[in-house]
Amino acid sequence: MKLVVIGGGVTGLAAAHRAVELARERQAPLELTLLEARERLGGTIASERVDGFLVEAGPDSFLSEKPWALALCGRLGVENRLVRTDDRFRKVFVWHGGRLHPLPDGFQLLAPTAMRPFVTSSLFSVHGKLRMALDLVLPRGHADDESLGAFVRRRLGAEALERVAQPLVAGIYTADPDDLSLAATMPRFLDVERRDRSIILGLRRALARAPLPGTSGARWSLFVTFADGMEELVTTLAGRLPAGAVALKQRVSGLERSAAGWRVRTSDGGHLDADRVILATEAHATARLARYLDPSLANLLAEIPYSSAATVSLGYRRADIPHPLDGFGFVVPRTEGKALLAGTFSSVKYPGRAPEGHVLIRGFLGGMLNAAILDASDAALISRTRAELREALGITAEPVLTRLHRWPASMPQYRVGHLARVEAIERAAGALPGLFLAGAAYRGVGLADCVRSGETAAEAALQG
Ligand SMILES: Cc1cc2nc3c(=O)[nH]c(=O)nc-3n(C[C@H](O)[C@H](O)[C@H](O)COP(=O)(O)OP(=O)(O)OC[C@H]3O[C@@H](n4cnc5c(N)ncnc54)[C@H](O)[C@@H]3O)c2cc1C
Repeated sequence: MKLVVIGGGVTGLAAAHRAVELARERQAPLELTLLEARERLGGTIASERVDGFLVEAGPDSFLSEKPWALALCGRLGVENRLVRTDDRFRKVFVWHGGRLHPLPDGFQLLAPTAMRPFVTSSLFSVHGKLRMALDLVLPRGHADDESLGAFVRRRLGAEALERVAQPLVAGIYTADPDDLSLAATMPRFLDVERRDRSIILGLRRALARAPLPGTSGARWSLFVTFADGMEELVTTLAGRLPAGAVALKQRVSGLERSAAGWRVRTSDGGHLDADRVILATEAHATARLARYLDPSLANLLAEIPYSSAATVSLGYRRADIPHPLDGFGFVVPRTEGKALLAGTFSSVKYPGRAPEGHVLIRGFLGGMLNAAILDASDAALISRTRAELREALGITAEPVLTRLHRWPASMPQYRVGHLARVEAIERAAGALPGLFLAGAAYRGVGLADCVRSGETAAEAALQG
């Protein structure tokens, strides 16, 4: 079988690797080509070593709760390359009223599960705490798919939304919670409400049944990364593909049905024939390629909005930072009016990110809520980040390392109704035999979801 995978991000790589695994298991011949438009593999994953620092330009970790990336690491034999977070510093801070407040212990994304730290927290007003406690008695809601913002406001109140849910969610999806589909992004909370009515009680019961990863001596922390950065996943996957399978700087410009299956055209005028094609590109890129195959499919794909983001990594001498940096980092509610969505204390969270006596801090900017800021020059973004780190952490010293990375149109937004759109996309794509879609745009934006999406596409492509 001739299989062409388009897109060399983690989804395309996971798809290509799974196809190789399956062909080997079944002793079936496979002629594999992976076409990537850029001069490097990895898509949004990129790690770099600079002056003893290990800088993550994009994702810095993956969730161990979702099993697919960990399972892949197991099959690749690289579990020994994974590193845990330093859970002595599990704390996350929230910027509120001009200073950093610790998020109370036991707060699970949207709601508290431990009462004492919640009641004594400086992050919430008395009124806000009482309103959150109302969740204990409020009845269930009825909406099939409501926004995450509406859900949190309804169950836990405006303060919980503004001070916790909104900034934590912005740090993951860079989205306005009032646009974000709860069912597509955090179905767990919908299930908790359906099953237990109260989010607080439901989360407490779930915790009693199964402690969270990273607690009670679990093997993995909630977030895991690679000793040499997330790019290790990319190089390992690429290294397991047949020699010559990867073609870089090959932008696919067209896709046509042919007598034998598919003809894949590249922008240098060349073409490749394939029996099966996996499209592991961003939805906007997939929409362009689907335009002449099925315009309504292309429209559905183009309707998935993407946001842009930037990361600013700053290295400092430890002695130059007055703050104890006793946490993984901080998130910033939009009500604070800052450029930063979040800041990660990278070298506290993970070992090996900064040379001895130094620390690495990474700011995250942009997203759906603050897209305009990315029009600023690199120098302006760096100086804004430094000014806000001065306010939050008291850092006035010059950084010894400064790196900025921009990620234009890189983060798909799961708006209310997203799952219905994805079902329609899957139905339309299902009518194009031999063509399979995968990637962050559909059923999960995290790396673990992308691995699952790519592997599922490979399994479907090699079927029959
Ligand atoms: C700044 C940032 C931080 C993040 N942090 C985390 C994190 O900590 N943990 C986590 O789990 N997730 C994180 N994510 C999300 C995660 O990184 C992405 O969802 C995931 O990497 C997407 O992988 P993908 O392969 O689906 O898409 P991409 O990585 O976007 O790859 C798509 C590839 O397709 C190629 N392509 C596009 N068009 C064509 C064409 N016509 N021909 C050939 N090739 C083409 C592109 O060049 C690209 O390489 C983060 C994302 C960003 C941007």
